[in-house]
Amino acid sequence: MTKLKSYLQDPALKKCYDEIRAAGAIRSISVDLTHVCNLRCKGCYYFEEGMDAINVPDESAFDEFIESEKERGTNFVTIVGGEPSMVIPRIKKVYDNFKCNVATNGLIKIPYEGLENLPIGISIWGERETDSALRANGKRDLFGEALKNYKNDSRAFWYYTVAPGYANQIEKVVSTCVENGNAVLFNYYSDLSELGDKHDYKAGFHEVREEIDRMIEKYPDKILMTPSFNKVISEGKLFDESWGYEVCTNLSTNHENNFERFENGNPYNPHFRAYNADFSSTRRCCTGVNRDCDSCYDTWEHFSWVMVNLKKHLNSKEDFTDWLTTMYLFYYINRLVGQEDGATSMADIQNIIKEKTASTHQEVGVE
Ligand code: SF4
Ligand code: SF4
Repeated sequence: MTKLKSYLQDPALKKCYDEIRAAGAIRSISVDLTHVCNLRCKGCYYFEEGMDAINVPDESAFDEFIESEKERGTNFVTIVGGEPSMVIPRIKKVYDNFKCNVATNGLIKIPYEGLENLPIGISIWGERETDSALRANGKRDLFGEALKNYKNDSRAFWYYTVAPGYANQIEKVVSTCVENGNAVLFNYYSDLSELGDKHDYKAGFHEVREEIDRMIEKYPDKILMTPSFNKVISEGKLFDESWGYEVCTNLSTNHENNFERFENGNPYNPHFRAYNADFSSTRRCCTGVNRDCDSCYDTWEHFSWVMVNLKKHLNSKEDFTDWLTTMYLFYYINRLVGQEDGATSMADIQNIIKEKTASTHQEVGVE
């Protein structure tokens, strides 16, 4: 029996695995739906690297883009920008043709009708004052506005970016989001504007990581993160590999600057392209043009690192559980699994992880 088969003797793991298999393989891209935004956040990768400097095409270019990506076999689109909610008809066109998710600042409500199953990640960078200071010079209660727009909206989850010195805000932000009827996914601040001090990623995310783990314990059905994935992102380690360009898996496969990387033997996502808002040119990766990869703690990109590295996770059932639960988490956030009655829930995922931890402790004799 192969290792994989033996791990799948466990009914809970088998159920997760089968749900993912039924949802099918993902052939993903990202696209900037527009080059404009109604905010200018400090440390936004999009404007820090001048990604908005594009030739704006007319709408027919967008329609042609949709058709050519369908022909290429794309079945999943991460919608970014600029601010996608400023071009809702384009969101609808993507939604009608692909599985997708959208990243928004939450200030313009994305309508429910016609977009009922759209996963919406709303960015938040801290408590009201912190978020407002970093994103609106303290002049607007952005968090409050977005909370109102997405109250009890089951499509919405908060994409909460935490800086190293702000671990003490996590519980309050999370409880506010949960009380609003939404789930929370974490991201880790990169400080591209070089604010330093509490924002400096070089200080490390140890306290942030611990606090996120505590939130997983407290809200197991609302936190879209697992302890192992939290560790991978915050430490930038996956077994013997350290995160960076040479192992990064979500690189535009048609971008000549990446060709040398694809020769180094490390796996990558062979379909991926990060399209600019001209809907034809691509850039190195979704979150960078020339950016120093040391600053990259982007959760979305780390998902792919784990997901394409199944082989590395086959040495033990514990490692396989880490891989499978991360994989399931990605599918769950994107509403590709978990929507049917009886499907594995987020709380089920956390229970699977707890059982794994308990059995590991038994094996090594921890009381
Ligand atoms: S809302 Fe998003 S795209 Fe707009 S400036 Fe802020 S981080 Fe950048
Ligand atoms: S910045 Fe881009 S290329 Fe660099 S590690 Fe992050 S996703 Fe990969």
